[in-house]
Amino acid sequence: MTTLKHLPGVPGASTPSAPFKTEATWTNWGGNQSATPAFTIRPRNEQEALDAVRFAIREGLPVRAAGSGHSSSPLVQTGGVLMDMSGLAGITGTDRAARSARALAGTTINAFGDTLWEQGLALSNQGDIDKQQIAGALATSTHGSGKDLGSFSSNLRWVKLINGYGEIVEVGESQLRELRAAQVALGTLGLFLEVELAVTDRYYLQEQITYPAWEETVSSWQSDIDSNRHYSFLWCPEDGSCELLDLPGAPGMSMAGRSYTKRYNIAEIPDENSISAVEGARLDRAYRIYPGGFTTQFHELEYFVRSEDGLVAVEAIQDLIRSKHPEQKYPVEVRWVKADEAYMSQFQGRDSTVITLTTQPGTDYWQFFRDVDAVLQEFEPRAHWGKIHFMTRSRLERLYPELDTFLQVRREFDPRGIFLNDHTRALLG
Ligand SMILES: Cc1cc2nc3c(=O)[nH]c(=O)nc-3n(C[C@H](O)[C@H](O)[C@H](O)COP(=O)(O)OP(=O)(O)OC[C@H]3O[C@@H](n4cnc5c(N)ncnc54)[C@H](O)[C@@H]3O)c2cc1C
Repeated sequence: MTTLKHLPGVPGASTPSAPFKTEATWTNWGGNQSATPAFTIRPRNEQEALDAVRFAIREGLPVRAAGSGHSSSPLVQTGGVLMDMSGLAGITGTDRAARSARALAGTTINAFGDTLWEQGLALSNQGDIDKQQIAGALATSTHGSGKDLGSFSSNLRWVKLINGYGEIVEVGESQLRELRAAQVALGTLGLFLEVELAVTDRYYLQEQITYPAWEETVSSWQSDIDSNRHYSFLWCPEDGSCELLDLPGAPGMSMAGRSYTKRYNIAEIPDENSISAVEGARLDRAYRIYPGGFTTQFHELEYFVRSEDGLVAVEAIQDLIRSKHPEQKYPVEVRWVKADEAYMSQFQGRDSTVITLTTQPGTDYWQFFRDVDAVLQEFEPRAHWGKIHFMTRSRLERLYPELDTFLQVRREFDPRGIFLNDHTRALLG
């Protein structure tokens, strides 16, 4: 149990010590979320971050942190103090024997690659991009694919943060209750300054891309999940679906009803002369294989069902697209993530199948997303916190058995709700 010391007053100057702007508009990557905070503050060190939070507390302003802005849900918005964490970046230490790495909160995922590799280490898994800041990725339980691999959050071992009293607090494995709350906190426990992640020995990945028809995907459903370190696919409703996500379609065949299917498995190679950049059969350091590059904006909804329901749930979405939403042409992405114990993790206690629906900005996709939400209800879906969703407090009460424990910890860390905005207050206030 963490002991929180309550400061009698919150010391500090009447303006923040870090560079700040007033009334600067913030917009996310997808262009569907924006805010005009009273102050946008970019701390360059821990003391400047502390000064900024204490300034906000004294002035009665709420605080939200911005990572790389890759969430499309209203997580970052605030009319108070927006903390731009990009100036607090860098790997601060690695421990080969303990297989762990420490980094400042604003370190982007791609900054881990070379530095960990030089130490014989690597992140155990990654998602489709590596532009997110590590604290941003942790806040929403960002994940890759692989039935034996957990999300980034499941690998959080320790965090140093500023709580709602304006105090610096450390949470490690000896405070399991607080750690499980911090692992997925949507920015509501406080401002993360530095984190420690469990990492793994470095490894090479062999990529294999195939384009199976749906019947083939179904016939090898479980064996593909079980026998590949990373297995995922993007099912294409139409021939041109792949191109919408900058993915090459199958040469010489229509992609309609087929899947762009990825399998990544560990490869032992004698030396780096064996590295291959052949499209669809790349062989390289793991951190170079995972990330794709998306050049065009999109908006996403991503729901998680129990693995045992995965196939039926995906087929329900295919039926929905065919019968009611033929205008939706983006691929449906399907991935797998191992269960974990973080209280607000989408994977808490559930090995999960991930279903991602992508839509085009500027089109009216709300009815489609609402229909997806309705069709998946029978599977008790959870939602990606960083993507568009329809979660409410009453749904959380049904879906997250440890919600009350999370809320207790949140109130201990931030009783006045300094770190809440409208969106997170409705869910977790
Ligand atoms: C093109 C694209 C591809 C994606 N691919 C994947 C994928 O493969 N897998 C997946 O799971 N998700 C994926 N996502 C979603 C993305 O990983 C999450 O939305 C993630 O949270 C974004 O991180 P960020 O650094 O951009 O944080 P932001 O979106 O800026 O912020 C996210 C949350 O983190 C909080 N936060 C940020 N920094 C701190 C801090 N220092 N202290 C406390 N709280 C903080 C913010 O307040 C906010 O609540 C993708 C999104 C896009 C746009």
